[in-house]
Amino acid sequence: MRNYPFHKTVVENELIAALGQEKVSTSQIDRESYSRDLVVPYNCQLSGDSDCPPPLADFVVQPETTAEVAEIIKIANVHKVPVTPQCGGAQGSGSTLPLFGGIILDVKSLNKVIDIDTENHTVTTQTGLIGGELEAILNNVGFTTNHLPQSLHVSGIGGFLSARSAGVLSTKYGKITEMVLGMEVVLPTGEVMRTKSVPNSAAGPNFNYLFMGAEGTLGVITEATLKIRPLPETRRFQALLFPDLMAALNASRLIMRRGLWPAAMRISDELETVYFHHQESGSQMTLMFDGFEELCSLEHKEALKIAVELGAEDLTEGPAQKWWEEKRFTIAFPSSTHPLFGIPTPGHIRIAGCIDSAGTFDYLFKVQRGLKEIVEGMNMFLGAHFSHFYPTGGMIYPTFVSEVKKGPESARAYNEVWRRGVEFSHSIGGTINHHHGIGLNLGRFMKLELGESGLDNFRKIKNAMDPNNIMNPGKLGL
Ligand SMILES: Cc1cc2nc3c(=O)[nH]c(=O)nc-3n(C[C@H](O)[C@H](O)[C@H](O)COP(=O)(O)OP(=O)(O)OC[C@H]3O[C@@H](n4cnc5c(N)ncnc54)[C@H](O)[C@@H]3O)c2cc1C
Repeated sequence: MRNYPFHKTVVENELIAALGQEKVSTSQIDRESYSRDLVVPYNCQLSGDSDCPPPLADFVVQPETTAEVAEIIKIANVHKVPVTPQCGGAQGSGSTLPLFGGIILDVKSLNKVIDIDTENHTVTTQTGLIGGELEAILNNVGFTTNHLPQSLHVSGIGGFLSARSAGVLSTKYGKITEMVLGMEVVLPTGEVMRTKSVPNSAAGPNFNYLFMGAEGTLGVITEATLKIRPLPETRRFQALLFPDLMAALNASRLIMRRGLWPAAMRISDELETVYFHHQESGSQMTLMFDGFEELCSLEHKEALKIAVELGAEDLTEGPAQKWWEEKRFTIAFPSSTHPLFGIPTPGHIRIAGCIDSAGTFDYLFKVQRGLKEIVEGMNMFLGAHFSHFYPTGGMIYPTFVSEVKKGPESARAYNEVWRRGVEFSHSIGGTINHHHGIGLNLGRFMKLELGESGLDNFRKIKNAMDPNNIMNPGKLGL
């Protein structure tokens, strides 16, 4: 257990002197409501062990400028106070829990768009802006980032960058990591660093990639310049029902091999096909192409040909368009009729999680069956979809759900299903996570992902940049 014996009153006075009273809160209600993660329950809460309360921040601060962020970090560094940046607080892996107390740095007041450049197709924005708000501003002038995660309206730019987020259009437009030109970061000493906003470069390592995925452990990202594109002229939709999951996955492989770029391609496994799409059997694929009419029409025609040759039934555009218009910002299963989504029986709680990962196509062909066997072997339920495709492979989004007895058993079951699932994904060649991030929940698996030497070198980078270990300590397996 790390110890951060800072003097609270001294730190509070310095924060107030730097930011003003209205941007520094020590109230119980603020500290409790910010000391949280939208999804992952703190293990002690899950187990019902009241002797082990969840972590609680000492201060919540709400800076509006990079200079104010730098002041906060300098104070924290001098007094050795942990700092947990928080944007939407929706990453869902425990990454915003202030494990050792200290400061929650709420970036959401850093919410100004600095420049929209429609000639060079870029937007420069502060990073506390919520994704949906940035989209609304850009859409007003006919542009979009094309970064539309399911959490668009509850997560912000800083969180997207820090967790290497993926939107529903990532197959064509890439993850947020492919959309960044440059960024401004307040380092753990309070120094401000900028990377150049250029389309590309060969001048040494790309520092954007040091901060993306760092989940606030290497500094606070305060500004970013992102690519934007004009809104598409048209969208073409197609739903298809394959005889089984393997046929659908094979179609996705051939669609990518043919050089087609669906903006969205999503495949439900047999279980999700029954409960989410209300089909009797099979594996449903949802396709969407966007851009200008001639291109969309050609891509659509080619994809349909590939699918039909593999035995797919043409379900027309209706169900795919419905998904886009009504369901793309909702979670798949809670709207379903599966009995596990009802009210838990007395003395029990519901546990759920998504062991999302990615790998090459041979990985995709194996992973769902393996995970299903593991999860069902623990008397839990697993349904999955595949989305976020690449020419070499894609991502699986397998959701497990179970009803377990309240008490220590629940935490054990929760941790165990993650352990078995992640270790299995890793053992057959997948990454331990595709886009929900590592935080607290998956930190224990970082050695699997990076290897002994990789993790050791990551720790050296962290120690060199953050010698007092103030930035989001205890996360990412550090
Ligand atoms: C219902 C739901 C659906 C989701 N769907 C998707 C999806 O489709 N695609 C996807 O990728 N993710 C999805 N997520 C996960 C989540 O939206 C992403 O991980 C997102 O990137 C987190 O952004 P946030 O603003 O909520 O970040 P937070 O949860 O606030 O923070 C995430 C991490 O980044 C750090 N951080 C935040 N801001 C900064 C900053 N400015 N500088 C440095 N560090 C910072 C935090 O300390 C934390 O470690 C979903 C989550 C939910 C609850």
